[in-house]
Amino acid sequence: MFGTRGVRGPFGSKVTPELALKLGAAIAGYVGKGKIVVARDPRTSGEILSQAFISGALAGGLNVIDIGIAPSPCLAFTTRELKADGGVVITASHNPPTDNGFAFYSADGMEFVDDQELRIEGLVFDSPPKGASWESLGEAEGYDEAIPKYIEAIKEDVKVNEGFKVVIDCANGAASDVTPRLLEELGCEVVPMNSKMDGSFPGRNPEPQPWNLKDLMRAVKETGADVGLAHDTDADRIAAIDENGNFVKHDALIALFAKMAVEGGRGGVVITSINTSVSIEEVVERAGGRVLRTPLGDIHSEIPAQKAVFAGEPGKLIFPEFGPWMDGIYGAAKILEVMSSEKKPLSEIISEIPDYPMYQHDFYCPDEAKAGVMRKMRNYLIERVAGPYEVLEIDGVRINRKNGSWILIRPSGTEPKIRVVVEGRTEDEMKTLRQIAALGVKRFLNAA
Ligand code: MG
Repeated sequence: MFGTRGVRGPFGSKVTPELALKLGAAIAGYVGKGKIVVARDPRTSGEILSQAFISGALAGGLNVIDIGIAPSPCLAFTTRELKADGGVVITASHNPPTDNGFAFYSADGMEFVDDQELRIEGLVFDSPPKGASWESLGEAEGYDEAIPKYIEAIKEDVKVNEGFKVVIDCANGAASDVTPRLLEELGCEVVPMNSKMDGSFPGRNPEPQPWNLKDLMRAVKETGADVGLAHDTDADRIAAIDENGNFVKHDALIALFAKMAVEGGRGGVVITSINTSVSIEEVVERAGGRVLRTPLGDIHSEIPAQKAVFAGEPGKLIFPEFGPWMDGIYGAAKILEVMSSEKKPLSEIISEIPDYPMYQHDFYCPDEAKAGVMRKMRNYLIERVAGPYEVLEIDGVRINRKNGSWILIRPSGTEPKIRVVVEGRTEDEMKTLRQIAALGVKRFLNAA
């Protein structure tokens, strides 16, 4: 039931009020006596799912604090602030407005790890909790201070000295009333776009990827802004556009904050997903730190054990000193903080991060053929990619060459696709690796 981040799917078929009710009952069974915080993004199905979910939780004897429409990182923050036993956001993140879903958080604001999700699944399908008796039913209450307190906490934590001009694109999502306000309170001149809450997301595709942010890039140039910032609908994600209107690569942002965290702490562990640039290892190791790679959707789970100083997956940044959750709003403030402390345009700051040619492509592959193609590709790549020096098999197969170039092939967990990522030291090497991968996938797919 759970994907890389919670439960997600089309409203009415996979994600229904009935499922919401069962999930509410399940979280009550999981937490026992206590309280949880519930939030949602502005999807049109949000209110319905939220009410059903809260009903299930109350019937299970759990108290609920409903903060209404709020960004995921604000929910995580509020869960910790109010010393609640957990939190839930009703969101489908960057999925289309027809979808919805549920993301669960622990008391410290960290998203559930796999074991916790399995227990919730068990409580939905195998052993639904009985429910509380009439005298121990849960109580629900509202809470108006979630967003103001979250904004206040970020303002106390980041130092932004200059009055930057910022174009902010909230994807008509839950941050529409939050990030523009935070930026203003940080002394910025704010140009909002797609920042009127609307559950049909009329402004753009909510995934903050370069191909969805053309309007933002143009607006940054046309208004002469210092930076453009973009969220997805629940604002756990952040993307940046530099002052020239160019998209800042997700991996460059990860490397930048990883480097700063390691420099600031004089060492430490940075966690990143299997699919990001080797530039992250380069800057982190140069600064005296170490990189740990995890499967996609899993960067948070090792943070406590590793005492990680930073964690990042493309578009998703975790600043453990503020909280162990992905935070696109805190991330926005941190980008301004770097610009302020470095006293340089964003493009110049980013140009100090090594940049290598990268290629990503998804090949169609029926689910039943995935395992066979992956097995054959593994051996084929080890044979063909000359002098492999490290093979990582935590999520698909990643082969790191000694010179720093690498190739990753992994089956999609949600779609009938095999994903290939290649990073070359040079454009030529990238093209060679790309060709090797494409030939292999096609050959084994035809044979499947
Ligand atoms: Mg999201």
